[in-house]
Amino acid sequence: MAEDLIKKADGTNYGTTMAGNFIHDIIDEDIKNEKYHREIRTRFPPEPNGYLHIGHCKSVCLNAGTALKYGGTFNLRYDDTNPITEDEEFVGNIEKDVQWLGFQWDNLLFASDYFDKMYECAEKLIRDGNAFISAETADEIKATRGTLTQPGTNSPYRDRPWEESLQIFHDMRDGKYADGEVCLRAKIDMASPNINMRDPVIYRVLHASHHNTGDKWCVYPMYDYAHPIEDAIEGITHSIGTLEFEDHRPLYNWVLEKLEWPEPPQQIEFAKLGLTNTIMSKRNIKRLVNEGTIESWDDPRLCTIAGMRRRGYTPEALRAFCESVGVAKAENKVDYDQLEYFVREDLKNKVENRMVVLDPLKVIIDNYPEGKSEMCTLENASDPEKGTREVSFSRELWIERDDFMEVPAKKYFRMFPGNEVRLKGAYFVTCTDVVKDEAGNVLEIHCTYDPDTKSGTPGADSRKVKGTIHWVDAATAVDIPVRNYTYLALPDPEKPNFFNFDPGSRQDKAAKGEPSLKEAKAGERFQFFRNGYYITDTVLSKEGEPVFNQTVGLKSSYKK
Ligand code: ATP
Ligand code: MG
Repeated sequence: MAEDLIKKADGTNYGTTMAGNFIHDIIDEDIKNEKYHREIRTRFPPEPNGYLHIGHCKSVCLNAGTALKYGGTFNLRYDDTNPITEDEEFVGNIEKDVQWLGFQWDNLLFASDYFDKMYECAEKLIRDGNAFISAETADEIKATRGTLTQPGTNSPYRDRPWEESLQIFHDMRDGKYADGEVCLRAKIDMASPNINMRDPVIYRVLHASHHNTGDKWCVYPMYDYAHPIEDAIEGITHSIGTLEFEDHRPLYNWVLEKLEWPEPPQQIEFAKLGLTNTIMSKRNIKRLVNEGTIESWDDPRLCTIAGMRRRGYTPEALRAFCESVGVAKAENKVDYDQLEYFVREDLKNKVENRMVVLDPLKVIIDNYPEGKSEMCTLENASDPEKGTREVSFSRELWIERDDFMEVPAKKYFRMFPGNEVRLKGAYFVTCTDVVKDEAGNVLEIHCTYDPDTKSGTPGADSRKVKGTIHWVDAATAVDIPVRNYTYLALPDPEKPNFFNFDPGSRQDKAAKGEPSLKEAKAGERFQFFRNGYYITDTVLSKEGEPVFNQTVGLKSSYKK
């Protein structure tokens, strides 16, 4: 792995290059052939119509990582040519997310800053006979486009003189037309087997305010026309995007060819990252947020960068995950457990542990003196360098409800009547009695302890006990709200590869914890002994009143 690490001049270690993929093979070849007389330039071009998710994370790793690997330039460009769906809220958050992932762009750019240039380019296409103004309605254009098996039919406006088209194009810009009344179409080939090449619309009239250009424009370029120009203006060499753009590549190339762009960028596509057990696309996340099904774009169950950050995932884990997924041409869904594996691996040696009981059951140690209290020493982590801490122990404790079974199942070694277990960092105790209500619910259990078994004292391990359970002292325990999570979405029983939101995916716990947890700062991480990795929620926590999110459980089924 060491040789795959990428370092920026400032020493930042990105730990990922998405190394050894077919895109880098293409770039190596281009460098060998001196295809470009400039350094390698890549870009990440999000549309500011939502928050970034794990799929975008892969695209950022790939684009930024590629520029780093080749000592080139990486642009963060807002693809903001559609005034209707975009929002300022998303703009700043995208930057924050990219930086949090650990990447820094060389240039921060807005596609809308190129509207003048795009307009000029369209004038050239018209003058050269490569585009014409059509007065067909959207429906008419659709109806004459043909099908996969049948060619389309030429527009009646296709052969109008370019002077006439240019005049109308100016009038469009000057506000003399209503939305949809006229549009600019590329003049390519209505019989092309690729429907994208059948005289696509490249400019439309749209009387809408734009977040960046305000009311300056009432004509806007279409994505397929705008995107190659954006890349070309920035001198991008390799325009790396996802597979759905593969069929659009001929149009990308056509635009730059007709504009006679020297050393035009080349578009290369890779398979989108898909993940099981989640809902990923911006459109679907937006729906969940708008319906109120989830709190917000940063709901910790979501695989948005904001959600994963709040959940406690680390940038290192996300980059290592993207690296592990690799870059390919074939679409597939990656198991969510693979993502969790990298989160767990990254947190393993980073955080201290604490004892927290999520579903508390009261234990009374009958032979422990009333009113007495003593301190027990616990290691903060398996790494001895992390030191120890003292927690109090007294007659009444909390343990996890499922660490007790009145009638033990096979191979159950924890607390049950007559069985001796070790209390982590404290004594051996034996369950002697169970107190239940009339309905048979267990209210509390009684134990005796052996004073000669205190952890760390000589002879403490004289007897073998199979179970070690965690606990907190009821006299000093603090109440802490904890949110455990399971998969956001579960497989649809009818539709293969389809996942539905699971309303039970968040489990709120009224937990009992060591007193020091009250002072946990927002964003602070812990391992809750036996329960998983947790982080203090950055949104819901208040000074002295932390709320905890489960980042990930301790066990994984995923094998690297
Ligand atoms: P979504 O479909 O999830 O809403 P999008 O593709 O519309 O996402 P954009 O803002 O247009 O989002 O995408 C910015 C860049 O991120 C594009 O280059 C796109 O190809 C890439 N990208 C989007 N989704 C994924 C994904 N799942 N895996 C890898 N790259 C992705
Ligand atoms: Mg999009």
